[in-house]
Amino acid sequence: MKDILNFINGKYVSNTSGKTFPDINPVNGEVIGRVHEAGKPEVDAAVAAAKAALKGDWGRMSVVERCKLLDALALGINQRFDDFLQAEILDTGKPSHLASHVDIPRGAANFQVFIDTIKSVSTESFTMRTHDGKTALSYGVRTPRGVIAVVCPWNLPLLLMTWKVGPALACGNTVVVKPSEETPATATLLGEVMNAVGMPAGVYNVVHGFGPDSAGEFLTRHPDVNGITFTGETRTGTAIMQAAAEGIRPVSLELGGKNAAVVFADCDFETAVDTVTRSCFENAGQVCLGTERVYVERPIFDKFVAALKHKAETMTPGRPFDAATKIGPLISKEHQAKVLGYYKKAAEEGATVVTGGGVPDMPADLKDGCWVQPTIWTGLPETASVITEEIFGPCCHIAPFDSDDEVLSKVNANRYGLATSIFTQDIGRANRMAQHIEVGLAWINSWFLRDLRTPFGGSKQSGIGREGGVHSLEFYTELRNVMVKM
Ligand code: NAD
Repeated sequence: MKDILNFINGKYVSNTSGKTFPDINPVNGEVIGRVHEAGKPEVDAAVAAAKAALKGDWGRMSVVERCKLLDALALGINQRFDDFLQAEILDTGKPSHLASHVDIPRGAANFQVFIDTIKSVSTESFTMRTHDGKTALSYGVRTPRGVIAVVCPWNLPLLLMTWKVGPALACGNTVVVKPSEETPATATLLGEVMNAVGMPAGVYNVVHGFGPDSAGEFLTRHPDVNGITFTGETRTGTAIMQAAAEGIRPVSLELGGKNAAVVFADCDFETAVDTVTRSCFENAGQVCLGTERVYVERPIFDKFVAALKHKAETMTPGRPFDAATKIGPLISKEHQAKVLGYYKKAAEEGATVVTGGGVPDMPADLKDGCWVQPTIWTGLPETASVITEEIFGPCCHIAPFDSDDEVLSKVNANRYGLATSIFTQDIGRANRMAQHIEVGLAWINSWFLRDLRTPFGGSKQSGIGREGGVHSLEFYTELRNVMVKM
């Protein structure tokens, strides 16, 4: 069986405790690896290596030299595309067409995009008169924050990890990554690419394990960590903020969502149906930006429900490399139980189950996988659990609406505020809605369309801070003001 080791100071290392946990393929429940859990000694060693690297070759490099390494990393991932693809698919079970179009290429591109940012962003400068009639010049200098803890989820493992590691390294920091316990493979594999491109030892480190009383907590509570960037559940974000409070460390939090799509009667119907299908069911609904609440203007409500039902029923589950596969399994048995719990709750709360609601019938060799059916409900009050709580599965509730004000108040009546998508051909109305829906990201007639230079993040309980382009620099650098009296 494959051993998945920690990557510390440029080397793959086991642990002193001998503790391991299984890496499981969610397609069939097979154990595919033995992950070596990092205890306090390994986390200490990783943070110490990251701290030392700041003072070594890495800390002395010019921006241009750092950018050359980032470019080589992007190239290195692409040269080993199939290895990354295989590793990501074994860990997640996602269809290969999705991982090969989204996860791996974006995982590489995240290194490239921050090269342009770090090379081109300037800082402010001002001149002023002093009391004695002379002049003073002040200017800003960006310096790295230091050691950054990068704590990641399992839904887009490589992509969401490099989304943080890319800008952190571009800005001259060093990192200790704690990948999700469900998806340890690609972060580990990236260590090989780091060594191959000549990244100095200690700049990129990976420690495996869980959250509380494990690598996640040891890392985020470590006093030599200078900043924590986290993507995951809002509840975990609270724990991480509490850890960061000790020592007053900055946090960047990309958290949960309960995103709404708003479909007006004058929309391009095919575009709306196709796009909402993707936003509800892609990656088996395990996308933070995914839609779980759909509001449709009453004149097209029945037609829309029927069209989405048809689309959901053509989401064929199956093996990642089968051309017919449209949807993979959920990440784990635990998550499957959570999603099925919501399916049961929706029925108990009186939902009309338009389609799905259970587990699909799978061939014998896939029966132990974490499958659920794409599911659509109607008829629930806005207070129902499946309308208020994040499920993170391939499901949505569809409700009719009659006016802009009504739909706006329903969409905003939620503790999360990550993303929304609005479908209408009335561009004025779309823009008015986009300005009033309380989210970090609003799409008009689209979904998941991203320009990596733009701010990404959530409002309300969906997060703190924005990452992307120049916005990432706010978190990954310290802005110092220098005042010169002349
Ligand atoms: P999670 O919060 O359970 O785990 C995320 C990571 O945090 C894992 O590596 C885990 O081991 C670690 N962790 C857990 N408890 C910890 C603790 N006390 N201290 C330190 N680390 C700890 O999230 P998940 O289940 O892996 O991912 C799904 C969630 O992520 C969903 O809520 C989804 O909306 C959210 N998400 C948000 C975004 C975004 O950009 N806003 C993107 C993807 C996923």
